[in-house]
Amino acid sequence: MSVVEIERTEKINLLGLDGKAMEAFFLDLGEKAFRGNQMMKWIHHLGQSDFTEMTNFSKGLRERLAEVAEILPPKVAHKEFSKDGTRKWVLEFPSGGRVETVYIPDKKRGTLCVSSQLGCALDCSFCSTGKQGFQRDLTAAEIVGQVWVAQNSFGPVDNVGDRPVTNVVMMGMGEPLLNFENVVTSMNVMMADFGYGISKRRVTLSTSGVVPAIDRLSDEIDVSLAISLHAPNDALRDQLVPINKKYPLQVLLAACERFLNKFESNRRRITMEYVMLSGVNDSVEHAKELAVLLRNVPSKINLIPFNPFPGSEYRRSSNNAVRRFQTFMQDAGYITTVRSTRGDDIDAACGQLVGKVVDRTKRSERWKNKIQLQNE
Ligand code: SAH
Ligand code: SF4
Repeated sequence: MSVVEIERTEKINLLGLDGKAMEAFFLDLGEKAFRGNQMMKWIHHLGQSDFTEMTNFSKGLRERLAEVAEILPPKVAHKEFSKDGTRKWVLEFPSGGRVETVYIPDKKRGTLCVSSQLGCALDCSFCSTGKQGFQRDLTAAEIVGQVWVAQNSFGPVDNVGDRPVTNVVMMGMGEPLLNFENVVTSMNVMMADFGYGISKRRVTLSTSGVVPAIDRLSDEIDVSLAISLHAPNDALRDQLVPINKKYPLQVLLAACERFLNKFESNRRRITMEYVMLSGVNDSVEHAKELAVLLRNVPSKINLIPFNPFPGSEYRRSSNNAVRRFQTFMQDAGYITTVRSTRGDDIDAACGQLVGKVVDRTKRSERWKNKIQLQNE
């Protein structure tokens, strides 16, 4: 690490503080607690990252802030705004690493897809992030920074005005429940009035099924839950979502029931994500099995067209197969939607953040070459 980087990491990045932590930060400075909300408003409503512009703070306080803190968003390395309103950013973090963040507007909704880790350790067989392996957790500041960039691309918001980002889904890179603290902190900022003011039903955490962390989540925060299910039985799910070997379907679904019971709302459902892989999990037989499997868990089903990536071994199911599957599930009484592939013109649909991936196959090919070279 260079000297410059060491100096920088000593300052606290205020993007990563939720309301309580921001108050504590100002109390530590010998200031009043209400300064916390003022700062949240500067950062998240007004998009301000320069302390010298914060005119409701005294000059002395602004100087002190510049000494101990910073508001350091990720750098926009690349952006593409599509004709249909979809926006995509490639964001680069000051301490290294890149993510893609996608904004998809739809009627009155604007959904932002956010990443929680660089890469992912869970290695689902159809996922390009999984193929990259795990690099590191994102900090809370890096997770919130993605929302900051997206919202700022529309300009400042006032307290009650229309906000462009109405929904956030933790469906970019990474397994959010394996970066628990930072994800919970950043979701707190997303939901805070002085943060992004997003309602708890509109912040969705998607997990491949880290069961103990699902229980912990419901102890700490009330958000919507989506499960990456993808298969109606353990034999198939073991192949697609390897964490299933540790937490098989019955264990996972019991955790889903506990999650729902915790919040005592009979209108509440868990979203079951199901990526449609041609000839693998997309037959009517699979749909039948799924309908039986989920009968005790209030669920809605979201069918996701598979997004192929270089080196992937699967194909996207035909529209017919998707429709047949959807109709069967609907007839069985499940609300079943198909994720739209809007933003395809900029390759932006959520959960499909392919990027410039160095996948494991390529890495192992390089190893093979190296070994060959040594043998020659
Ligand atoms: N790790 C979490 C959240 C990130 S993945 C999880 O697995 O839920 C977000 C969603 O995108 C998941 O439902 C995931 O299964 C899906 N996904 C991953 N790769 C995909 C691909 N190639 N095509 C379509 N959906 C994919
Ligand atoms: Fe990780 Fe989710 Fe991809 Fe599985 S689908 S490898 S859990 S990001």
